[in-house]
Amino acid sequence: MKSNLIIKFETILRRNRQRLTAPKRQIFDYLLTTNQPVSAVSIAKNNPNINSSTIYRILNRFVTLKIIKIVPQGFKIRYELGDGFNQHHHHLTCENCGRAVAFDSPELEHLIKKISLNLNMKPTKHHIELYGLCSACQSQ
Ligand SMILES: [Zn+2]
Ligand SMILES: [Zn+2]
Ligand SMILES: [Zn+2]
Repeated sequence: MKSNLIIKFETILRRNRQRLTAPKRQIFDYLLTTNQPVSAVSIAKNNPNINSSTIYRILNRFVTLKIIKIVPQGFKIRYELGDGFNQHHHHLTCENCGRAVAFDSPELEHLIKKISLNLNMKPTKHHIELYGLCSACQSQ
């Protein structure tokens, strides 16, 4: 049985006249299983049957189609499913081990909206980078 997310994914590809190839499906399925933003390198490592130039091409296409989004962490770029496939959320990343803890905060969303509206801007998107030390790294 196909999950709603797979159906949604296929619909986006179809609407944008993109072929549903086996590598596209595999990368999407892989991103469904990761619960952390992942780098292109780690996507390539976990999907060794697809060559890495194909992986980069698919990732760029998926970003354009908003199937996935870029999660910038300093100079590094990671990817995760876009807000249409995942509830909108942010991450607090451990500076030491790199583990990203996801959270969502209605207060934060409200504040961002308020700041934009106060400046006569219609809010469209945002990303926030937050860093800390996780409990395991604090006790090192
Ligand atoms: Zn840590
Ligand atoms: Zn996330
Ligand atoms: Zn937000």
